Amino acid sequence: MELKIENLSKTYSNGVKALNGVTLKISSGMFGLLGPNGAGKSSLMRTIATLQDADTGTVFLGDLDVLKNKKEVRKILGYLPQEFGVYPKVTAQEMLEHLAMLKGITNSKERKESVKNLLQQTNLFDARKRKLGTFSGGMKQRFGIAQALLGNPKLVIVDEPTAGLDPAERNRFLNLLSEIGENVVVILSTHIVEDVSDLCSNMAIIYKGNLLLTGDPVKSIDSVKGLIWQKTIDKHELANYQTKYNVIYSRLFAGRTIIHVSAAGNPGDGFEQVPPDLKDVYFHSIMAHLNNTAA
Ligand code: ADP
Repeated sequence: MELKIENLSKTYSNGVKALNGVTLKISSGMFGLLGPNGAGKSSLMRTIATLQDADTGTVFLGDLDVLKNKKEVRKILGYLPQEFGVYPKVTAQEMLEHLAMLKGITNSKERKESVKNLLQQTNLFDARKRKLGTFSGGMKQRFGIAQALLGNPKLVIVDEPTAGLDPAERNRFLNLLSEIGENVVVILSTHIVEDVSDLCSNMAIIYKGNLLLTGDPVKSIDSVKGLIWQKTIDKHELANYQTKYNVIYSRLFAGRTIIHVSAAGNPGDGFEQVPPDLKDVYFHSIMAHLNNTAA
């Protein structure tokens, strides 16, 4: 199964262009859609999930025209939205059974069986009789993935699922995602680079509605090999370095500021070359885009 997105554009009534001619092919397996807040990830996810219309463009899942056959798509779609509200007074099991019914699993034995399996898979079986309002953030997200997996979807969309989870909960959640069958298209949208590097065999970077890069994370890291230079500086020197060098990002470590610069040759000045990671790819591609559009 392949999801084919072609030339998708969306401008909201306030004039914000959230998607700018996005063209993208997504095969089965775990796909990471990476971009900062406001990049257009949710707009893209909601469009694929048939919840909003695009101005132009097409989306096909195999032969199925996603934008024209919303009902069909919803039967094979599992979606965990960014804002996932739960009914606080209903138990996990009751809610899943209700949602299973809505999903069209009308046979009661089959429904009970699949709810039980999903509760076990998401490690919520022991909490099945607890009200959803008493769940922790991590449990809510695991419940969210349980409801998204009802009815064996062929396309699973999870929008920023790890934001707000503590490291242990995040780990548990990502492990759960990694267990989804290999013939399913799973799109994980996130602004957390590590979510993609930990989990995804394919990815795209999106920024202000533009697709900057798509492909295999490992290969994309290779593409910036030899270009990334690092230096530890004082915080107040940052602005000065930003005018002199192509600083792609800065981070704090033990109270000191570490900057990463992209340059074809040794910038001198005490910089040392470092092996790149996906964060370098991410910030490098955003910086290259900004430099191009400013030119
Ligand atoms: P992301 O999910 O990457 O944070 P979004 O798709 O939510 O990005 O938003 C992309 C841009 O579109 C942002 O500038 C956001 O403010 C704007 N936007 C999103 N939804 C709406 C809407 N319903 N009306 C107007 N602007 C919107």
